[in-house]
Amino acid sequence: MNRVFLRRKISPRVLKGHPWIFNNEIEKADHEMQPGEIAEVLTFDKKFVGKGYVNPQSQIQVRILTRNKSDEINEQFFLKRIKECWQYRQKIGYTENCRLVFGEADSLPQLIIDKFNDYFVIQTLALGIDVWKPAIVEAIQQLFCPKGIYERNDVPVRELEGLPQQKGFLSAPFDTKIIINENGHRYHEDIENGQKTGYFLDQQDNRRAIQHIVKGADVLGAFTYTGTFEIHAAYYGAKSVLGLDISAGAVEQANANAKLNGLENRCRFETANAFDVLKQWAKEGKQYDVVMLDPPAFTKSRETIQKAITGYKEINLRGMKLVRPGGFLVTSSCTNLVNADLFSQIIDMAAKDARRKLRQVTFQRQSADHPIIRGLENTEYLKFLIVQVQ
Ligand code: SAH
Repeated sequence: MNRVFLRRKISPRVLKGHPWIFNNEIEKADHEMQPGEIAEVLTFDKKFVGKGYVNPQSQIQVRILTRNKSDEINEQFFLKRIKECWQYRQKIGYTENCRLVFGEADSLPQLIIDKFNDYFVIQTLALGIDVWKPAIVEAIQQLFCPKGIYERNDVPVRELEGLPQQKGFLSAPFDTKIIINENGHRYHEDIENGQKTGYFLDQQDNRRAIQHIVKGADVLGAFTYTGTFEIHAAYYGAKSVLGLDISAGAVEQANANAKLNGLENRCRFETANAFDVLKQWAKEGKQYDVVMLDPPAFTKSRETIQKAITGYKEINLRGMKLVRPGGFLVTSSCTNLVNADLFSQIIDMAAKDARRKLRQVTFQRQSADHPIIRGLENTEYLKFLIVQVQ
């Protein structure tokens, strides 16, 4: 097995638990690193660090899979790891739907597996994990006897690894339009064409957090996608719910979801650009008891972080203006580039401009099936805040 030696200064960071080794952090290797191979990682003074997969073409040349010297990286290794991931999710209360594997947070770098009851959607986002796809599929088959497994590798980040974007069946073909249960209601989900893996599991715990504030309320939701937050609101007793999304397909699915749950009389969705409509309605003096915002990331790189800050501030300012005094703003941010402190500051800036005072009800992160590893900043990405707007 090839051995990769770290530079002296880099070793402590990796020794503390960080799984990534960048191209400028490697002192030398025994022989030329081969794409996809498993290599041993050692400190500059030859102490064993771990074993990881290699891609010399990537900026991140090694990602560590294990720090246990006796672990062999083979089919059994993946079976055992994925089994442990499922045991952990069950331990913390997930039974049906969950992110079964959350990459680095589960020591399976760049592997995502979402479990939608009997259906599984996987993403292998780096070359070194992509080569183990057959072993991963076999492990899912053995552990769950699923009704279907689908690959949603249609993501640009794969190209940084020299991998093609692709999607398709990893099991016998099945109907990719499925219905899933969450918190007692049902949702149509399109595994093949939906966003990301088809459904945002990372908000599933947060959707429950709106339970009390929406009772008897007039609710406005923006960036609704398939309407999960809004249907929760109607289910929890909102008087009226209006949801907006820029995608006509998402709106169609959201309306179908309202119907599926028998809530279409109190919950409807329209196609709109939230930035325009919220501004217009604030001008017209419209008011809601609860406004919910769950916008996209606005940026994917640190260089354009200002774009995200401006976007979040703007949309939250517009949202706050629509909240009746004493009502609530439910607001999220899904990029790890904006950390929790910065997000709080952005919301405070918006409140200042809107001349409103905020009282925090709760400030949460992503659902617990997407574990946050201390010291591994990329694992903490979603912020979910409820404030009373006075
Ligand atoms: N709340 C959803 C996820 C939202 S994802 C859930 O929990 O499932 C973000 C959504 O914002 C996408 O559906 C996208 O179509 C929508 N979107 C992006 N820009 C928008 C805009 N300017 N106005 C309205 N919707 C927008």
